[in-house]
Amino acid sequence: MTVYNPKSLHAEEFINHQEILDTLEYAWENRHNIPLIERILEKARPKRTAGGVHCAGLTHREASVLLACDLPEQTAQIHRLAEEIKLAFYGNRIVMFAPLYLSNYCVNGCVYCPYHAQNRHITRKKLTQEEIRQEVIALQDMGHKRLAIEAGEDPVHNPLDYILESLHTIYSVKHKNGAIRRANVNIAATTVEDYRKLKQAGIGTYILFQETYHKQSYEALHPTGPKHNYCYHTQAMDRAMQGGIDDVGLGVLFGLEKYRYEFAGLLMHAEHLEAVYGVGPHTISVPRIKRADDIDPTAFDNGLSDALFEHVIACIRIAVPYTGMIISTRESQQVRARALRLGISQISGGSRTSVGGYTEAERPHDSEQFDVSDQRTLDEVVSWLMEQGHIPSFCTACYREGRTGDRFMSLCKSGQILNCCHPNALMTLEEYLADYATPDTRRIGRALIAQELEKIPNQRVRTLAAQHIEDIRASNRRDFRF
Ligand code: SF4
Ligand code: SF4
Repeated sequence: MTVYNPKSLHAEEFINHQEILDTLEYAWENRHNIPLIERILEKARPKRTAGGVHCAGLTHREASVLLACDLPEQTAQIHRLAEEIKLAFYGNRIVMFAPLYLSNYCVNGCVYCPYHAQNRHITRKKLTQEEIRQEVIALQDMGHKRLAIEAGEDPVHNPLDYILESLHTIYSVKHKNGAIRRANVNIAATTVEDYRKLKQAGIGTYILFQETYHKQSYEALHPTGPKHNYCYHTQAMDRAMQGGIDDVGLGVLFGLEKYRYEFAGLLMHAEHLEAVYGVGPHTISVPRIKRADDIDPTAFDNGLSDALFEHVIACIRIAVPYTGMIISTRESQQVRARALRLGISQISGGSRTSVGGYTEAERPHDSEQFDVSDQRTLDEVVSWLMEQGHIPSFCTACYREGRTGDRFMSLCKSGQILNCCHPNALMTLEEYLADYATPDTRRIGRALIAQELEKIPNQRVRTLAAQHIEDIRASNRRDFRF
């Protein structure tokens, strides 16, 4: 029998099945233990000190108690605390990104994904470098600066060299005032050597969804292909870290297994990275299984309601306050609105989830990975966010200044976010307004910027940010950052 050890490099020890079962039992027994719930909430509450605002976060056991709690009053407190933490660290800023699908060739047999190798009727596509250039131009013309690169696993069609060449192409396109300043990469688990090459190619975050932490389910859901190997997949982030990538993004596909099990596994994975490498995950994504070609979500019986999904988001926010949280256009506008308050810090906008989708006039469906619920344009999403009091941010400053891994985390913990993220958000929003926005969005955005500039505490930073914003309006100078 394996024993739980967060410092172990063996997947079944740092994500230990028995520890998860014990955690779930402990959480269930204590789900109405009000004094314990209050102690946990008190521990997690933001504390103001001379050095800024600090949050202790929670262990997977403590957070699982909050997740299991279904008392109305305590649930409301949990959600209020999540909102408070969200505001303390992320303010009203929401970072924008878009996925870019390079290829849907895949040798794996994941039963929940239409790209699985047994799907013979889906159109298979792989973009050429020229097609990537055209897609990137289309994305730049929408206003995007940050991408998430997606490709299936196929050593013949999509070898690592293809991904590396594609990254080079993506970063080299400079159309009008556009540029992709950060390309995050979501590709299959690979070797330390390959991760080193990805790091050298300048990737932002390496993202790999675990899909499910439940080993037995994992093996059943991935019956064929290299992804079948649970330990190799689960230990991928360790290899990425060993290859020098210190921004890694975790995620599970909610709906495949019991959400409480996944939640505990996700937090144990974060604790493992912190324990071994001194830095937790840069981001956590919370996709839910959705309809797609060949995929019927009702075939999976662990789907969770919108209310439970929101509760999961709130509990993750409280447990890992310094980790960014991502939600995609899989979710509807209504779900995204609530999720943004409870903890989400990054969303995609104007997404097309098919290979080559951005250069088509109409949204193509033949090679889509999932149905997009939120089909609004980026401009509509930006305008909607601002109307809800959020600042859409196209900031990539940390990556460009080399503030990754623990250097990024120390910025988060230093209390300098209002003097750094906030002006960066306003300057990159102005870039969007000046270059890409519709007149209505520009009008709303400029009023918002005027108001939000006042919130920058450091007077020198405030004056400089205002000057840079004027420069962006009056000239083609771009890419100012703190
Ligand atoms: S989830 Fe990824 S690995 Fe699995 S079939 Fe889809 S593209 Fe391939
Ligand atoms: S300054 Fe860094 S942490 Fe802040 S929004 Fe920009 S990239 Fe993110």
